[in-house]
Amino acid sequence: MRLHTQPPTHLPAEAPLSERDALYLSQAIRLSQVARERGNRPFGAVVVAADGQLLSEAWNNTGETGDCTGHAETTAIRQLAGKADRATLAQATLYSSGEPCVMCAGAIFWSNIGRVVFGIDAVRLRVFRGERAEQRDAELSCRDVFATSPHSIDCIGPAMLAEASEPHEGFWQA
Ligand SMILES: [Zn+2]
Repeated sequence: MRLHTQPPTHLPAEAPLSERDALYLSQAIRLSQVARERGNRPFGAVVVAADGQLLSEAWNNTGETGDCTGHAETTAIRQLAGKADRATLAQATLYSSGEPCVMCAGAIFWSNIGRVVFGIDAVRLRVFRGERAEQRDAELSCRDVFATSPHSIDCIGPAMLAEASEPHEGFWQA
């Protein structure tokens, strides 16, 4: 078993972003700060259509609702119900302050969203999460989930690591 207290030996390289992607990812990161201020884990997400329309935005609300499925990405996807059809979502991008977990990667698949841009990756996040069982994640990369999809899901990240890491500083219990 890998010990998380040891620094990971292989860290994914930071991806450069277009001005547009950087703008929306910043918005998702701002929402992760909102999540934290409201007593939740610091994650945020926004979904943006190809024409730039903001389709939904959400922060992780597991702390304030007690709903363990209230991750930012899954919550943002729930808000799309009745608002955007599958063709629109195929061209849309979900921006997430952190790499989507297995549940959220599954929700992204079911939503038909065709593109994902995320901030801090799960490997770097595990250094913040530490060893406490209730803070650890299921260690399956969203890219491995997306790779099983019959439709393509582009995935860009990690990106804007300095900004995306900031909400996690001092948040997780040692
Ligand atoms: Zn999730």
